Amino acid sequence: MGNLKVAIVGGGIAGVGAAWSLHRAGYDVELFEKAPALGGNAKTFRWPVENGYAESPLLVIAWPDMYYHNYHLLLDELGLGRTTLPISYFVRSPDGDFRQDGESALDRRFAGQFKRWRKLVAFVSRFCDFFLPKDRHESIYYFSYFNPMNVIPLYWIARLFGISNEFWHTIFVPVHSATFITTSMKRIPAVILPILESIVPLEKPCRMSTWDGPPRQVFERMTTAFATGVHTEHEISRVARENGRFVLEDAKGRRYEADKVVFACDAHSVLDALESPTWLQRLLLGNSQYVDDVDPTFSKFVVHSDASIFPEEHRDEIASKFNTYVELDGKGSLECTFVLSSQYPGLNQHGVPMLVTFNSDKPIDKVHGRFDLPRANHTLCLRNLMIMSAMRFLQGKNDIHYCGTFTTPEGGHDLSFMSGLVAARAIGAPYPFRSDNLEAVADFHQMQRMMLGRALPD
Ligand SMILES: Cc1cc2nc3c(=O)[nH]c(=O)nc-3n(C[C@H](O)[C@H](O)[C@H](O)COP(=O)(O)OP(=O)(O)OC[C@H]3O[C@@H](n4cnc5c(N)ncnc54)[C@H](O)[C@@H]3O)c2cc1C
Repeated sequence: MGNLKVAIVGGGIAGVGAAWSLHRAGYDVELFEKAPALGGNAKTFRWPVENGYAESPLLVIAWPDMYYHNYHLLLDELGLGRTTLPISYFVRSPDGDFRQDGESALDRRFAGQFKRWRKLVAFVSRFCDFFLPKDRHESIYYFSYFNPMNVIPLYWIARLFGISNEFWHTIFVPVHSATFITTSMKRIPAVILPILESIVPLEKPCRMSTWDGPPRQVFERMTTAFATGVHTEHEISRVARENGRFVLEDAKGRRYEADKVVFACDAHSVLDALESPTWLQRLLLGNSQYVDDVDPTFSKFVVHSDASIFPEEHRDEIASKFNTYVELDGKGSLECTFVLSSQYPGLNQHGVPMLVTFNSDKPIDKVHGRFDLPRANHTLCLRNLMIMSAMRFLQGKNDIHYCGTFTTPEGGHDLSFMSGLVAARAIGAPYPFRSDNLEAVADFHQMQRMMLGRALPD
């Protein structure tokens, strides 16, 4: 690899993962991030508390333990611990409340619907099983192109199973709005249902893994060895070929050179930066769909400590027992609040509500910050799945590689991290972990098949 320089555009887990893996393999890396800090969606926030501050994640909060094999290896390698967090939802609708602790009238009213839901989950799981390898481990990376559930919307099958529109809009959409980061779910393919239900079961609370400390530690430790090559507040606005090398220019006119480029940002930022995109780049990148293209619900958020946004009669309970509060207004609009101080380890002892609210028109007091969240997650739909599959025809062409959410089937921290490792592997970096964890290795091979069309030799 000599002095081969690789420029990575985007400092979320995909870009940092690619840079980390490439640097370990001896490549000279330079990482560009437009925000003041690395992390992308995995942001760390400092809450003012008595005698100082408390740090916590804001958006990317937890993950399903049984599926994140490679991310766990990364945390072990970095010497960072993890813990678990109960995840439970409180939904307020004009028809009543749905609480995942089974204490609400809506649970009883929808008892028949929940029964149908269980039948639907069992049917779709059996159907999808038929198309997957029999000896597979628990994984989010298995995918069959021949499964008709890839193209059949979950909503259609749910309706065929007698799931009412009311149940869909009052229970399914609110609970999973925080999973898909949208309220627009009618085109979500049915193939996702078995994994979805195993991660966030509709009826009852679950437990997920989370970091022992703030997520910023992950990014700091991953980049320590090449800290001088990390450029935050560098928004790359132009990538062009000059004299056989890439020239990257940021919004302030600063110029850098590199031999290869890894794009780890959203597809539209890639297209904006490329000086002369090919027709295929225009077609695939220009048609990638993000949640805020179709639904503004999660495109902005407010960080605050104002618990008065919860209904008065349940305020204390929501603030101490539920992670996510969702309120429907009856006209199809939805407000969503992540209640970080309820059960996030180490936060509830401060006695300060720590809340992240999307799409509220209530007056909110005690505001710590208002943020935009452009192109944070792509939509889960057939169009994006086709684009994801076709990205293999672009990967590595003219020394440009791509990773990050739009190159993965669904938004998830392990998925994005793996996409960065696959981009690094395609350039020449070996798999960075010991290969005796067969499940992690199998996931890595699966991800290569999805992104590159084949698994490269180890
Ligand atoms: C609200 C929300 C909650 C989520 N919660 C979870 C969760 O709990 N668990 C989970 O597993 N996943 C969650 N996800 C999914 C999450 O997106 C992924 O886990 C992962 O963090 C995405 O990483 P990434 O590197 O692919 O993209 P991002 O994190 O989006 O990083 C892309 C980076 O590129 C930068 N960038 C863009 N354009 C440029 C440019 N021109 N120049 C330089 N830099 C640029 C951006 O600033 C950003 O930092 C959530 C997503 C959202 C939106």
